[in-house]
Amino acid sequence: MENVEVFDALNKGRGLRATKVFKAGDVIFTEPSFAAVVFDSLSQQVCHTCFRHQDKLHRCSQCRFAHYCDRTCQRAGWDEHKQECAAIKKCSKVPNETIRLAARALWRIEKDGSIVSEGQLTTLDQLEDHVADMSADGLKELKGNVHNFLDYWPHSSQQHEVDRVSHIFGVIKCNAFTLSDQRGLQAVGVGLFPNLSLVNHNCLPNCTVILNHGSQTALNPLFHTQSRIELRAQERISQGEELTVSYVDLLNVSTDRQQLLKQQYFFDCTCECCSQHLKDDLMMAIKEVNGKKPSDLEVKEVTQLSLKALEKIEKARVEGNYHEVVNLCKECLEKQELVLADTHLYKLRVLSTASEVLSYLHYFSEAADYARRMVEGYMKLYPPNNAQLGMALMRAGVTHWHAGQIEVGHSMICKAYGILMITHGPTHSITKDLEAIRTQTEVELRLFQQNKDAYYNMRETALKKVPMSAMAEVIQDSIKKLFRSK
Ligand SMILES: [Zn+2]
Ligand SMILES: [Zn+2]
Ligand SMILES: [Zn+2]
Repeated sequence: MENVEVFDALNKGRGLRATKVFKAGDVIFTEPSFAAVVFDSLSQQVCHTCFRHQDKLHRCSQCRFAHYCDRTCQRAGWDEHKQECAAIKKCSKVPNETIRLAARALWRIEKDGSIVSEGQLTTLDQLEDHVADMSADGLKELKGNVHNFLDYWPHSSQQHEVDRVSHIFGVIKCNAFTLSDQRGLQAVGVGLFPNLSLVNHNCLPNCTVILNHGSQTALNPLFHTQSRIELRAQERISQGEELTVSYVDLLNVSTDRQQLLKQQYFFDCTCECCSQHLKDDLMMAIKEVNGKKPSDLEVKEVTQLSLKALEKIEKARVEGNYHEVVNLCKECLEKQELVLADTHLYKLRVLSTASEVLSYLHYFSEAADYARRMVEGYMKLYPPNNAQLGMALMRAGVTHWHAGQIEVGHSMICKAYGILMITHGPTHSITKDLEAIRTQTEVELRLFQQNKDAYYNMRETALKKVPMSAMAEVIQDSIKKLFRSK
């Protein structure tokens, strides 16, 4: 591959570095999955070839498990599904997503070999599995998966030693990448991408990775493009510089991020952000009113109370008690108000949930207030070209638009567009949606500036019709952690 090379990143093992200069928004490489599967819970709602979320899918008549957009996707996915189809037909219960992924990976190796393209820089066998580092619980899960895998794996396929199968499960645990749907709003599946696995972690990375679903709409299949991940530069990168992505959300204090990384990926993060505890002070900041700070006891009380409230809020959210969520958020924010600063993580988490749920319930004005406070905090914490920041700005902008606050809404949407052009690129479906939204808010803003009465009349008529589908979808669901396994 011409843009990158493998190098020895010392205590981090192998790594990838740039062989030329990149500017923000450049695609460094693209990679189709070596193997990928849809999550168990979404197997009937998401296409097993292109990972788009669709209302109506076409079911495989053989196994009755795989689902596709149409014949085109079914045909395109048949090579990967053929052996799986026969194996699923034979079992009483479809195996879980991890087992299906391991099987697809081994069938791929059997069919195409360990290296399937010229640009592939490593094999699954060469990747680390960290089986030796796993906890007792981790090992128990792994053994269960291996056992069920052996039941599922047909006699007609090439047979493998238990160690080889365990290795593949270990590789999946620390290298699998979570796939999102076409709007980037929901995690829908998981896949293996060998080259991406070589990119090491940094809490403040210079690259971002996204799934591009490709295009299967052209009449001539020659013009179809496969779904693939894109590694994109999110800032200027010099020749020889190591390429990094973040495996976890930055919005955790350094010790928490280090713990998460250790548990899931078995390494100690020594990035600059962690070793110098950058931004920890902002994420745990205390409010100062007229030069006066709350007492240590007050801070301790509010911190503990916030943690408990966040648990309750999450429980109510999962159970779908949205009005309860709103009440709990308001109660918690009131207690936090005079004690925690606006960049404090616990406050941001409450603001984020409150705005999301209030938008869902169509209380747009209130939702917009919370969303604005949330993105103001995010802008102080995230680096400028961060995908999460872009997505949050997009949701906040759309919420303001719904609330009739066109000036703020349009400005947020423009900011989000600037970020997503770099993190997702102009051809990604989210960027295209956002482009349509931006055109709409631009027209409305002009009308608003010319004649406010006419603007409000037009809005009222417009809102009686169904709002633009893209605007409605943006606020329906959101997910923050799209990187790697759940
Ligand atoms: Zn499809
Ligand atoms: Zn089938
Ligand atoms: Zn770090």
